[in-house]
Amino acid sequence: MKNINKFITIGTFATLLTFSGCSATAKHSDKLKTTSQEHTSHWGYTGHNDPSHWGNISPKYRECSQGKNQSPINITAQDSVHANLKSIGFTYNTNSNSVINNGHTVQVNIDQGSNISIDNKSFELKQFHFHTPSENEIGGKHFPLEAHFVHVDKNGDISVVAVMFKEGATNQALENIWKNLPLKEGEKIALSLSSQQINAILPADKSYYRFSGSLTTPPCTEGVRWFLLKKPVSISKEQVEKFLNTMNHPNNRPIQNINAREVLY
Ligand SMILES: [Zn+2]
Repeated sequence: MKNINKFITIGTFATLLTFSGCSATAKHSDKLKTTSQEHTSHWGYTGHNDPSHWGNISPKYRECSQGKNQSPINITAQDSVHANLKSIGFTYNTNSNSVINNGHTVQVNIDQGSNISIDNKSFELKQFHFHTPSENEIGGKHFPLEAHFVHVDKNGDISVVAVMFKEGATNQALENIWKNLPLKEGEKIALSLSSQQINAILPADKSYYRFSGSLTTPPCTEGVRWFLLKKPVSISKEQVEKFLNTMNHPNNRPIQNINAREVLY
């Protein structure tokens, strides 16, 4: 099954990059614009195209309903195992180039050259984007916002670093993006955040929960390495509301069954 998944990941890599809210790159931005517009009519978060229907919308989305390692999950003590996890090596040293509202999320695209290293592999940061409320839960609790930093290695394997936001003071690092939020679906705005500004979105303490999961948007491809940073960063109520108003509705996929998986911490 792992090999099949891997094949799908590689085989549809270009497709994933253009189609998925979880994997688009700036390089494919023109295609993204076209496909995300077509795509919006196919899957969404409300009505007949909501997450409970994703698996039936297209044979390509079958994993959304058939998969056993789907994301997001609720992290509980019961499913968690203590392990000596190695630090993730963050080397975010390039700027962003644009921010796009693709109808499913707001996504910041990153210039080539920023990476994380984990499992003796290097995964390049492609983009990060947001969900409100959070998709993953910790101990059955949602956070008001969750950011996903999406990375891909040379084989097309995906690693996502997730950052939780809890309500509190205005997040100044986020404000650099929020004051440039593209309000309309399909709208793309040039945005050059420095690497320093990008790093400032992450908590200083980068300890994490690790689990195997999937993209949280169609095609819900599995075999994704998830690293959920334990320490949340702050966000103001107004900042959450601004994002929700931009999306017009929550953009979180509901919690999926953990099945045979364990969470390492
Ligand atoms: Zn996401």
